[in-house]
Amino acid sequence: MKYDVIIIGAGPGGIFSAYELVQRCPGKKIAVFEAGHALNKRRCPIDGDKIKSCIGCKSCSIMSGFGGAGAFSDGKYNITNDFGGTLYEYIGKKPALELMRYVDEINMRFGGEGTKLYSTAGSRFKTLCIQNNLHLLDASVRHLGTDINYVVLENLYNYLKDQVDFYFDTPVHSISAIENGYEIRCAEASYTCSECVVSVGRSGSKWMEEVCREMNIPTKSNRVDIGVRVELPAAVFAHLTDELYESKIVYRTEKYGDKVRTFCMNPRGSVVNENTNGIITVNGHSYEDPARQTENTNFALLVAKHFSEPFKDSNGYGESIARLSNMLGGGVIVQKFGDLIRGRRSTPNRIQDAFLTPTLNATPGDLSLVLPKRILDGIIEMIYALDKVAPGTANDDTLLYGVEVKFYNMEVEVSDKLESRYKGLYIIGDGSGITHSLSHASASGVHVARCIAQDLV
Ligand SMILES: Cc1cc2nc3c(=O)[nH]c(=O)nc-3n(C[C@H](O)[C@H](O)[C@H](O)COP(=O)(O)OP(=O)(O)OC[C@H]3O[C@@H](n4cnc5c(N)ncnc54)[C@H](O)[C@@H]3O)c2cc1C
Repeated sequence: MKYDVIIIGAGPGGIFSAYELVQRCPGKKIAVFEAGHALNKRRCPIDGDKIKSCIGCKSCSIMSGFGGAGAFSDGKYNITNDFGGTLYEYIGKKPALELMRYVDEINMRFGGEGTKLYSTAGSRFKTLCIQNNLHLLDASVRHLGTDINYVVLENLYNYLKDQVDFYFDTPVHSISAIENGYEIRCAEASYTCSECVVSVGRSGSKWMEEVCREMNIPTKSNRVDIGVRVELPAAVFAHLTDELYESKIVYRTEKYGDKVRTFCMNPRGSVVNENTNGIITVNGHSYEDPARQTENTNFALLVAKHFSEPFKDSNGYGESIARLSNMLGGGVIVQKFGDLIRGRRSTPNRIQDAFLTPTLNATPGDLSLVLPKRILDGIIEMIYALDKVAPGTANDDTLLYGVEVKFYNMEVEVSDKLESRYKGLYIIGDGSGITHSLSHASASGVHVARCIAQDLV
């Protein structure tokens, strides 16, 4: 089968490439290959009752399938160059923001209308933060919520399915350069195309590394973010989350000068397990529908670790720490802040005794046996700093779940068109190491589709 364009991966990067190609080059033959299931077949078997923890499905429905890793996410589209990726370094700050706004408009047309756009512009919290040695980053945040995010994806799929060939449960095994294009090999067949967009996200990172090695495409990497997910009564952060929804706050520790930041804030949300390559880490989400909201707010506190020579495997370092928590707790560990400060483990009784009901069934334990001292010290300092702008953060009952790890893909060498050293082979989204968010990954998809359209039309 010969296509004009083959897209590998149906996450936000792949979906928005397909969408924009359909707009710009109608009539061209486009295919999307996706290792995971169609959207309506994606279901994580963990029900908290019969199946309590990850059973290692062949294709993880949380990370893979139409919608990619973001399908069951909180659907927070951060329109900013301050975090979420470095797309602007390739295409410029203004074009990057314009693309993120364009993606937002599409999301609104496909079911997101009526959802709220929050903004830090002119917020009084910027001053409050700076007065307390904290830095609030600038962003507009569209919060779709897990429920509306799903509706938008469903509508996008229904729109695209008659114009694009989708191959679900079809992981691509290899890519090779052939005359005038590429050959894509899957388990049962091979396909060719003139242009190929690779958008395989975090779950495709190991495969991406292989492809780059085989095709001699230069890469670089050396960062991992490690920390905990904090859960506290929604009232503690309500003054911030009601106005901003998500606040990205950065703190520089006094002890080591490390940067600690808040990440992925979920007002009235739930803490959830995340499975990366069989290792259970923690994440969070929340619903737009008030009926599905909780009494708690959760967010991550992360410390970025950059390594220098000779150490190269930053993701391996993060995985080892996550594995340690899995070894001690059988999965995610939860500890009360008060217990951590007193140097004792949390027990089921101490957790039950708290004035806060955990939203994730994790194993009570001791995070100081898992997290390196430098990282833990930074997190504790940040909790006390946050307590000044959101009193109650440093309460004894505040829950810390560990570990949360943000793995970064190695960064692939690409041009301002996001084209690799092979003409017509584009590498985008989180799989390129350039983006780490829904909005940046989607924007990279639109950008690359526009570059391809110039060649094809
Ligand atoms: C639980 C969770 C919550 C999140 N919440 C947010 C949030 O609120 N806001 C935000 O900005 N970001 C969030 N993120 C991050 C966000 O989901 C990602 O940044 C985004 O999905 C990246 O898009 P992508 O298209 O680059 O990759 P992905 O979404 O990872 O999609 C890549 C797709 O490629 C497929 N694939 C991989 N290898 C192959 C192969 N060899 N052949 C075929 N297909 C392949 C995968 O199955 C996957 O479906 C969250 C992530 C998770 C896991």
